[in-house]
Amino acid sequence: MDAKAQAEAAPTSCGPIPLSIPLARRSRQGVVAWGNHRVTVGGDAPVRVQSMTNTDTADAVGTAIQVKELALAGSELVRITVNNDEAAQAVPYIREQLDRMGVNVPLIGDFHYNGHRLLTDHPACAEALSKYRINPGNVGRGDKGDRQFAQMVEIAARHDKAIRIGVNWGSLDQDLLARLMDQNAARSEPWEAKQVMYEALITSALESARKAEEIGLNGDNIMLSCKVSSVQDLIAVYQALAQRCDYALHLGLTEAGMGTKGAVASAVALSVLLQQGIGDTIRVSLTPQPGEARTQEVVIASEILQALGMRAFVPSVTACPGCGRTTSTTFQELAKQIDDYLRSSMPVWRARYPGVENLKVAVMGCIVNGPGESKHADIGISLPGTGEAPAAPIFIDGQKAMTLRGPAIAQEFQQIVENYIEKKFGVGG
Ligand code: SF4
Repeated sequence: MDAKAQAEAAPTSCGPIPLSIPLARRSRQGVVAWGNHRVTVGGDAPVRVQSMTNTDTADAVGTAIQVKELALAGSELVRITVNNDEAAQAVPYIREQLDRMGVNVPLIGDFHYNGHRLLTDHPACAEALSKYRINPGNVGRGDKGDRQFAQMVEIAARHDKAIRIGVNWGSLDQDLLARLMDQNAARSEPWEAKQVMYEALITSALESARKAEEIGLNGDNIMLSCKVSSVQDLIAVYQALAQRCDYALHLGLTEAGMGTKGAVASAVALSVLLQQGIGDTIRVSLTPQPGEARTQEVVIASEILQALGMRAFVPSVTACPGCGRTTSTTFQELAKQIDDYLRSSMPVWRARYPGVENLKVAVMGCIVNGPGESKHADIGISLPGTGEAPAAPIFIDGQKAMTLRGPAIAQEFQQIVENYIEKKFGVGG
């Protein structure tokens, strides 16, 4: 039977497998801007990467340096703590230093308890920030809380700033929770305690958003988050929240933890939601390991979006895990060297080589999958495995281009990658 006959004989009742799961949710689109630099959030804008500093904001120089590092790593929005007068006074100076360094990333002020007073007493801080994060559980209780919330929203409206109503299960509005628990007790079939907690998170966000719109804030510039620290809770809460509003949503697993655990938990939770079209900005709340750069949370957030095929930030390196066919660490070192080189070059390359983030490089350990994987990449190398001839074929645009031999394979391959990038993405490339 020839190929055509075989294709026609194949069962077709199910049709072709879809290329991807369609993204379902479309949120309102808002803007978080600084000067002429506008970061659109929601709607058809790409999912944005956000991060947060861990410096003392009162240390304006130290904070500006970390904001710059986060921005250069790919963070499109950076949040800073504004917790006292010293921090609020430092904000305009942080902004000024960033502007002087040519870093136009919008700054978000993170307020708890005294945000109404700090924004009122420090108008230069209110102006220098592009967005205010307001936690409805930490604005005060009762009428006083309502007045303090309104005060912050009025300042946001006056300065034409966006806000995020950021609910967190660790600081839930206690009055609201008590009200929902009373309602639940009156039900003929009460919900489980966890379901009441989910409802409290969502109701807190939605009621606050409604109040903010009533006060006069444009609903397009209201973003919501309901953060919890368990993956299943986060998915459940955001799926429900996404059905009940069209505000842009900020996603993040709060207190995700350290290292591999934090990275995996965040990736799992965010990926499930992002794949359903839920989420307009993301943050990976990673606890840095001692000595680890704060920028690691930006790297992971970017990798989540890149792995899902939603965005490209840095050229990707496909590398095999190695096995008994590889007896040396040569290919691991080469893969790391190329990955580090591509990543560290991106701050400069973004402007010099438009589109370079879509480059695909393969570094493979032996002949089994090496040539095949290399052919799928823009440029790939298949290193010699155990018992193979000491030669490393290079594939460029799917064709075998040359073979490297000898002790300088790594340096030569890096030069080949560099030449390829210059030719393909450089001006006139
Ligand atoms: S490509 Fe070769 S070295 Fe790499 S995992 Fe596969 S068989 Fe092992």
